[in-house]
Amino acid sequence: MAERMKGRCLCGAVQFEGTLKDGDEFGVCHCNTCQHWNGGPGMATEMVSMNISGESHLTWYSSSEWAERGFCAGCGSNLFYRLKENRDLYFVQVGCLDEPGRLTLAEHIFIEEMPGHYDFTGNAPRLTGAEFLARLQGE
Ligand SMILES: [Zn+2]
Ligand SMILES: [Zn+2]
Repeated sequence: MAERMKGRCLCGAVQFEGTLKDGDEFGVCHCNTCQHWNGGPGMATEMVSMNISGESHLTWYSSSEWAERGFCAGCGSNLFYRLKENRDLYFVQVGCLDEPGRLTLAEHIFIEEMPGHYDFTGNAPRLTGAEFLARLQGE
């Protein structure tokens, strides 16, 4: 079922609400860009129909030719990632959601870029970047 969920940055200047696209699932991205952006792996869930308040505080950084990342200019919270060809689909950092505990880890992506200083338990599928991007193209 498509559920709405709210979230905010650390200082509260940017608040948002959106519909969870894949129900209660989230993915962990181990790519080099996420590592630098977050200081660790990225954990994101896909959301659509986003309503955002405090957009004057929201800054978008063009992290590659095909994607951009939104953060709060006031407190630095990393909030969103989205593809430039589909700005309606937000990959929301689950730690910024009000109820992240309701989500379950569904998969890992860019597993080939995962560094050696951490690992995760559990049996969630581990996809390469190529496998993940191929699926995005197919959507
Ligand atoms: Zn903030
Ligand atoms: Zn990533």
